Amino acid sequence: NFPDIIHSVDEKGRIVFTNRKAESLLGYTKQELLCMNIRQIYADEILEKLDKGFDHLKKSGDFAVESMLKAKDGTRIPVEIRSFSIYADDGQFIKTFSILRDIRPIKELQNSLVHAGRLAAVGEMAAGVAHDINNPLTVIMLTSEMISREMRREEVLDPAKQRTKCAAYVADTKRASQSIEKLVLHLRNFSRGVAEKREVLDIFTTITDALFMTQNKTTGSQVIAENCVPKGIHFTEGCPNQLEQVFVNLISNACDAMAGSPNRNLTIGISDFKRDEKEYWKCDVTDTGSGIPPGILNDIFAAFFTTKEKGKGTGLGLSISRGIIKEHAGDILVASEVGKGTTFSVLLLKRPPPQK
Ligand code: ADP
Repeated sequence: NFPDIIHSVDEKGRIVFTNRKAESLLGYTKQELLCMNIRQIYADEILEKLDKGFDHLKKSGDFAVESMLKAKDGTRIPVEIRSFSIYADDGQFIKTFSILRDIRPIKELQNSLVHAGRLAAVGEMAAGVAHDINNPLTVIMLTSEMISREMRREEVLDPAKQRTKCAAYVADTKRASQSIEKLVLHLRNFSRGVAEKREVLDIFTTITDALFMTQNKTTGSQVIAENCVPKGIHFTEGCPNQLEQVFVNLISNACDAMAGSPNRNLTIGISDFKRDEKEYWKCDVTDTGSGIPPGILNDIFAAFFTTKEKGKGTGLGLSISRGIIKEHAGDILVASEVGKGTTFSVLLLKRPPPQK
């Protein structure tokens, strides 16, 4: 009746022991499982990792990791695994002993937290967005007023000139409506749920969209924002909205940190980065703000940690951002100097450009 899957596999990866939970979760009978190899109950995309992990486990003696099972009917089940090796007295590996916990409820909770964080960001942006919509709306009202004035004119001195004037007003109206349309569309996409499909994306686009969504905050805070990431070179794989959410948070924090600085520069750059044989893009969001005191540098990623006054910060931005980036097999690093500024570096796995 143990609530988690327990199983043992021999040195060839054959399942030699399993419990009832494995039957109910995976949909195989005990007899079926005892004729199977461990590779048959894991999701295809992690088999390579599984082989490496198994080799490591045989040598090191214990192992903890998050992984993905595949049930008989194809259902994918995220699990947290703790594995131990059992050795003979002469040190010879005999079998593993593993406990696998179904973490679907935790994943669901994480997803709703990410969504809650995103809605908090939307809430924070709402005032700015309303302002961004108000500007083009004023343009539309003015130009339509001008057009109707032209049309009411009793005597037309030069019809060709009048047509040109009206065409210019119409063009202004169109441009203004398009900028509202873009904003509304973007906000709608951004606040959507988190069940997004992963795709290969250009980091340039993610940053451009994040800067677009925060333009009101950057201009309102008199911040000079510069996107130094070129178009069409730096690709990664991920959920576009989630990655945008990360950069929206970082940009927004940078603006807050620069509120009292004489120079307010926000620069977003990109470079190569290698760690543990893996190739990443290192995307730096650098500000010239207050900096972060060394004493709290370890706390800033904790949920609900904030130094902002009530109503200004939720303390969720960085913790959710780090969660999102970890889900993308990346990382967020921070370097800061009090009085000089801060750089948050987002590591994202390199991917080749999408096939046209
Ligand atoms: P919130 O912004 O709601 O406070 P975050 O998790 O985004 O929550 O940030 C936590 C804390 O980290 C902030 O309150 C602030 O003290 C610090 N912080 C984050 N980004 C910066 C930055 N660019 N410069 C200085 N401090 C920062």
